[in-house]
Amino acid sequence: MFKAIVLEKTDAGVLAEVRELADDALPEGDVTIRVDYSTLNYKDGLAITGKAPVVRKYPMVPGIDLAGTVEASSHAGWKAGDRVVLNGWGVGEAHWGGLAQKACLRGDWLVPLPAAFTAQQAMAIGTAGYTAALCVLALERHGVTPAQGEILVTGASGGVGSVAIALLAKRGYTVVAATGRLQEADYLKSLGAAEVIDRAQFAEAGKPLGKERWAGAVDTLGSHTLANICATARYGATVAACGLAQGMDLPASVAPFILRGVTLAGIDSVMAPLPARLAAWQRLVSDLDPALLGEIGRTVGLAEAIPEARRLMEGTVRGRVVVDVSR
Ligand code: NDP
Repeated sequence: MFKAIVLEKTDAGVLAEVRELADDALPEGDVTIRVDYSTLNYKDGLAITGKAPVVRKYPMVPGIDLAGTVEASSHAGWKAGDRVVLNGWGVGEAHWGGLAQKACLRGDWLVPLPAAFTAQQAMAIGTAGYTAALCVLALERHGVTPAQGEILVTGASGGVGSVAIALLAKRGYTVVAATGRLQEADYLKSLGAAEVIDRAQFAEAGKPLGKERWAGAVDTLGSHTLANICATARYGATVAACGLAQGMDLPASVAPFILRGVTLAGIDSVMAPLPARLAAWQRLVSDLDPALLGEIGRTVGLAEAIPEARRLMEGTVRGRVVVDVSR
């Protein structure tokens, strides 16, 4: 038997509760994992609260990521005792996920837990941090260098934003953090932000082009914010778009792209191929100070993850929430 958060669809909405499940209830897969830690990502918040239809079948065990130890494997790449990390691949959406003491997954989805991190630290990074690394790598791939100017990070106090600030600052970029929580300025500066600004200035419909400022950006908000970032990006800048915390829409004009050569780089962590995943985790190993993870991440038990998911959706959680599934 093992414990898991289980989501059921009811007439009143999504019901989330911790249940005891039998091992034979696990879905098919070639690797069985004892989960050590999972986390709450924005998508887990959407799934647990039912705020958006990210879950494709019920009952579902949420949790789009996990760090754990292989218990049994018929996959050639993994054996019992291996320490692994899972991010995405539809886990926690279409396949039972990490907010459980056990998971049965496809070995092709797994990456090795980097030796530099404990399982708890890997989940303090989680899919949010791995996505932040994908964003930073995308900016570099498009030629953005520290000498070119300021990099804007939106949703700065959230998971992706916090890790993106730390990774960019470590590489010598001048990071401007946009937040709705100016009271978190000291936290954001401790991660490496050079300046903290109010996200409100990006939140409403703006002009097709504005004064050029950003050499690059990591945007987690979408909607008017993304449109306004593109409109104020410098000639030749790259904007990495990974999120929709403000909205899924993009009410923008083509002006920044055709008049200033701005590149909009889309970032997807869920189906990213293995080489991109390994590169992102390698970047986290080389550039993320594990001491910062204590600042960024806070640990809760399995049952506490349910109310935390509601708080995440209210935008009141700072950094990352790690879930100790044994608690
Ligand atoms: P968090 O909830 O940790 O952070 C989101 C942050 O966005 C909040 O902390 C807040 O920051 C800001 N925010 C929240 N609501 C609003 C709002 N209504 N308007 C403006 N700002 C808001 O989420 P994550 O960091 O985990 O994820 C951020 C986004 O990235 C999400 O949309 C998520 O779905 C997406 N994502 C995408 C991935 C991909 O593969 N493309 C992978 C991982 C995440 P502050 O208070 O500082 O303003």
